[in-house]
Amino acid sequence: MSWAATPPQAVTARVPAKVNLELMVGPRRSDGFHHLATVFQAVGLHDDVTVEPAQEWGVTINGPYADLVPADGTNLAMRAARLLAREAGIDVPVHITIDKDIPVAAGMAGGSADAAATLLACDALWGVWSSKAELEEMAADLGSDVPFALLGGTAMGSGRGDQLAPVLGRGRYTWVFALSDVGLKTPDVYAECDRLRSHLRVGEPAPSSAMMTALRSGDAASLGRALSNDLQAAALSLQPTLAEVLATGMDNGALGGIVSGSGPTVAFLVSDTERSLDLAVALTASGAAPSVKRAIGPVRGAHIITAASGPRGSLGSTGHSGPVGHRSN
Ligand code: ATP
Repeated sequence: MSWAATPPQAVTARVPAKVNLELMVGPRRSDGFHHLATVFQAVGLHDDVTVEPAQEWGVTINGPYADLVPADGTNLAMRAARLLAREAGIDVPVHITIDKDIPVAAGMAGGSADAAATLLACDALWGVWSSKAELEEMAADLGSDVPFALLGGTAMGSGRGDQLAPVLGRGRYTWVFALSDVGLKTPDVYAECDRLRSHLRVGEPAPSSAMMTALRSGDAASLGRALSNDLQAAALSLQPTLAEVLATGMDNGALGGIVSGSGPTVAFLVSDTERSLDLAVALTASGAAPSVKRAIGPVRGAHIITAASGPRGSLGSTGHSGPVGHRSN
């Protein structure tokens, strides 16, 4: 497949944040990663990533989190663009603009999301048309959570979280996310988890039947009860105030509450929009959380929303959810 008319001058991809409904952490592997069994859900908090040809490589981050994100070659979006360029033999620098709404260092995989969106957007901009398998391979090279940001929906992850199998669950779930002013670094949380469990024999992680049953039923109350995260104790140990956030949420109508990934965001599942508004007010008014976000899950993974053809204007929304066919160069 190729662009039928003029190649686009700019491509924008939208990508969701994730919450881990279940995160089982096994032993540390020889490569430093941990064996994981996890269930991801993509939620409706999004970053939009736009790529356009430029004289030199660059990245701009817009939005309230801009100061927390590196605007240089260490940015995961930039690393993704350069990886695809290398793999496809492309020598056209791009400028990447990230309109960031996913909280940073929050356990919601915002950096991974930007990497996934950039892969997809550059792939379209350059007309590489990588296969799904090629995109997945590059995504896994970039980080454990990047493949899921491409896939979206609800999925089980094994290996280091990068080997995915979609979960055919039912239901649409309403989430309230209690954010924190201070981020937690993922490696620090895993290290704390190892420290807390150093006297235990940690077995291979396996998904729980309670989680699968809950997702199959589509019953939010069952899902709320089944939420679990092996990193929660470590996140609480590093940031003890999270215990109060969890208690406040559960006292104010949440069906379940959990530290999201490596934290410090706390995710609460509620029964409907009205409850989500009530809980958002309770969390902020009590001072338990400085700010909150609300979202629905599951939502689709990274997808292209616009491909603008330069002077003649936007080609509009393509509805294109990923390239098809094979790389042509
Ligand atoms: P995860 O749950 O995948 O471990 P996280 O959600 O806790 O990650 P991110 O928002 O991905 O954390 O950010 C982690 C760090 O990565 C940030 O502190 C930032 O320095 C760096 N980073 C690099 N590129 C990006 C990006 N595009 N967006 C956000 N952070 C980025």
